[in-house]
Amino acid sequence: MGSWCSSGNRHVATEGGIPKAMTFQQRHLLDIESLTVDELTTVFDLADRFLEISERPIKKVPTLRGRTVVNLFMEPSTRTRVSFEVAEKRLSADSVNISASGSSTSKGETLLDTVRNIEAMNPQILVVRHGEAGAPHFIADRVDAAVINAGDGAHAHPTQALLDCATMRRALGSIRGREVAIVGDIAHSRVARSNMVALSKLGARVRVSGPRTMLPPHLEDFGVEIVDSLPQALEGVDVVMMLRIQAERLGNKCLFASTREYARTFGLTNATLELTKPEAIVMHPGPINRGVEMAPEVADGPRSVILNQVTYGVAVRMAVLYLLAGSPPVE
Ligand code: ASP
Repeated sequence: MGSWCSSGNRHVATEGGIPKAMTFQQRHLLDIESLTVDELTTVFDLADRFLEISERPIKKVPTLRGRTVVNLFMEPSTRTRVSFEVAEKRLSADSVNISASGSSTSKGETLLDTVRNIEAMNPQILVVRHGEAGAPHFIADRVDAAVINAGDGAHAHPTQALLDCATMRRALGSIRGREVAIVGDIAHSRVARSNMVALSKLGARVRVSGPRTMLPPHLEDFGVEIVDSLPQALEGVDVVMMLRIQAERLGNKCLFASTREYARTFGLTNATLELTKPEAIVMHPGPINRGVEMAPEVADGPRSVILNQVTYGVAVRMAVLYLLAGSPPVE
């Protein structure tokens, strides 16, 4: 998958550089449930356009010049935080980063007071990561700025699902009718939830698997098939999405016997990967626990598009920032 960025560019009809028939009515991006299929497609088409900008020697356009974006990260993050910041800089926005440890919440200030103070400085967009499900929705109801959910508890991670689907579309040509396996700690994964919603909307057939203790109740409501074993999940699929055990959300709960046992039962190896379609791709949102949910040779192997996901992540976030900033011209 090495020639990812420069090969297979899909043709998108454009007008002044902007994909035609752009549909996007959202004021915030809080979850995938709120988006229509046309809006999902708008983000993917626009991301393809921004991916091309990321391949240029000078990776900067003046599109969001003069706009301020505040990245409020109240939970640890590497990829998502850096990805948003790179996306903002490539669009020439002024970006400001706030983390939990460096903010006045560590001095006892409430989230609402923190946000009201940030709002008083008139940013156009707030990117919010928070350990509590619903925190970005709570903020969105109380501010004029557009709010982007960069991951809230075990609830949602919409930009991750958008970049995952964009990566799949690019690698496979289409999503409709594709078989996708999502394996691991489904119950505590916001990535799984957002992807199940997105993939069902886009017409993929999704199978999920993991230890029974890591499958949430009412999983069928997402329109997915639940299978007990890793081989059943992998049989003939086009995409394998492996997930990390969300240890930070488990508290004292002991949901599996041991890491070794988990790796033996649900860890993806080159041998189990043989069960998929020969051209199947392997995905992971990161961070990977090598040797637990995935063997290193799979993570680094020829079917892995894990780093392509990261590359696409910047383009997808540029697209989302662009759409929520009120569609200024792409130059
Ligand atoms: N980076 C993803 C998230 O923030 C996945 C993970 O942490 O396992 O949810």
